[in-house]
Amino acid sequence: MQATESVHVLRVNVKPYTGAYSPNVFAVVDSGQAVLIDAGFPNDDSVDSRLDYLKTIGGPRVEMIIVTHHHFDHAGGANRLREATGARIAMHPEEARLLQQTPARPPRDGGPQEQYMRQEVAKITVDQPLADGDVMRVGRLALRILHTPGPSAGHVCVFLEEERVLFSGDNVLGLGTTAIPPPPDGDMARYIESLERMKALDAALICPGHGPLVHQPERKIQELIDHRHEREEQVLALLREGKRTPTDMMRAIYPELDPRLERMAVGQVLSHLYKLRDEGRVTLRREGEGVVCEPRDS
Ligand SMILES: [Zn+2]
Repeated sequence: MQATESVHVLRVNVKPYTGAYSPNVFAVVDSGQAVLIDAGFPNDDSVDSRLDYLKTIGGPRVEMIIVTHHHFDHAGGANRLREATGARIAMHPEEARLLQQTPARPPRDGGPQEQYMRQEVAKITVDQPLADGDVMRVGRLALRILHTPGPSAGHVCVFLEEERVLFSGDNVLGLGTTAIPPPPDGDMARYIESLERMKALDAALICPGHGPLVHQPERKIQELIDHRHEREEQVLALLREGKRTPTDMMRAIYPELDPRLERMAVGQVLSHLYKLRDEGRVTLRREGEGVVCEPRDS
């Protein structure tokens, strides 16, 4: 599907995978050249249908695959797409480090598909490290890299200057909100800073890592910023009511949560608490396996 004159959405609906809905892969195309933003899953259907789509638009030469962050729904297909096209893989060095750690991390569901994806991610090597402010050329077009930590320490967004299109990775999704894990991977304070920076770009369109395109970028980003501030107020209110652990708070915030999502939801509460701790508004202390918090401003 074509989103703008130069931007194509290479969307594949992958049923068998658990977790987030299908990741989007985008191609920015000009003068017979293409840059892919993210690589999607590594399975045959995903990789083949993306390569087939590129053929239908005249088979541009894929110069580069910019991977917004290391999660396997975004990075997983990068090695196979590189092998098929000869493109170089570009990522932030922080994400390259996290890729190396992927095989040793605790599994999400541990199924055979996840095993396969982990193996594919471990094959990725970064041909071009990215830094904030880098500009890549695709034909006559310029893609500017923004280092936008939040869901992951080296997360990047990409801004297509000529068409004011923002590729937002997982920082802004087409539907819903992004899970922000606690440090060292995620960081709530930096996430909100990233959103403010993204808002200031005055983009005309957001191409998100998942879900439909966002046609009112500024409004969408403001909603996400507001949501984080509201959630923070909720965490502080729960603390004043006597909730002292991230798990107790998570149960109050998400009373009917699917148990499989609890670990992620606790992480989300924790990332709010770390932000509040850094601002001197709560204290955190370790107790056994977990963390206990106290308010400081009441
Ligand atoms: Zn994602």
